[in-house]
Amino acid sequence: MKTHSTGIHHISSMVQDPQRTLDFYGEVLGLRFVKQTVNFDDPGTYHLYFGDETGEPGTVITFFPIAGLGKGKVGSGQVGVTTYLVPAGSLPFWEERLQQHGIATVATTRFDEASLLFEDPDGLVVELVARPSSKQTRWVVEGITKDEAIVGFAGATLLSKDPDETIRLLTELLGFERVAEDGEWVRLIGSADYANVIDVKKTVLPNGVPGTGTVHHIAWRVADGEQYPTWQDAIFDLGLRPTEVKERNYFRSVYFHDAGRILHELATDVPGFTVDESIDSLGETLRLPSWLEEKRDHISRTLPTIELPKGERI
Ligand code: ZN
Repeated sequence: MKTHSTGIHHISSMVQDPQRTLDFYGEVLGLRFVKQTVNFDDPGTYHLYFGDETGEPGTVITFFPIAGLGKGKVGSGQVGVTTYLVPAGSLPFWEERLQQHGIATVATTRFDEASLLFEDPDGLVVELVARPSSKQTRWVVEGITKDEAIVGFAGATLLSKDPDETIRLLTELLGFERVAEDGEWVRLIGSADYANVIDVKKTVLPNGVPGTGTVHHIAWRVADGEQYPTWQDAIFDLGLRPTEVKERNYFRSVYFHDAGRILHELATDVPGFTVDESIDSLGETLRLPSWLEEKRDHISRTLPTIELPKGERI
């Protein structure tokens, strides 16, 4: 519809324990913790963001840690697998690293492409795929060099209650191109350099159940908020119901469910995570939107104390 990079902006998931999530994504997987804030719709809960060194769109995974949250079930109406892109040749490194951290891995293939599948400590299904890409990361942690470091998302799989309608949404509204199909999957590719390969499962699985270890929503890139009225009209024209535009401080967002029960978000590339702290200090302190600042003392007392992962910008 518009000139923008077609691909994933971020993926948001539900977990139980903030520290366990910081340790796994920040140290084992070596992503940068780029923003420490709260769920704007529920300020007693953290909203933790991880990405590349600046949290570029297409690298960002976010978590809502809720103590005692029940285990979810992956199924229709959800993202199935969150796929990360690693440099060519680095899968053996990752297999060894994950196993050293007690994470069982499974070697698998989709469309003849090798990948390494595993679960995070909350049961979220994550996958690594090695693909040539011009995207590089400038963030490393102990034990991972830039030749192995995750550079961002490769893509995701979608489990839809209505695969044909989900594919129609991705192609007609979002601008993905249908490029391949086998007995199990339809592959769609977007114009972004990475975070752009989406595989939609053709079989309809039993409904997913939200909870720990499941994806809450997937956000797609839009250039800026000026285009939102056009997007909202186009979503209505598909028979779906977009929300109003929500201010998320680091981007602006519109949400909607597709006919396959998947919760989608359209998120702007701007202004990004350096809007309220410098690149050097991303993630170091609790950041709140202006309308929550007056409640900072109360919010800080409510949130569990966390220890930040260590890493280095190169
Ligand atoms: Zn989101």
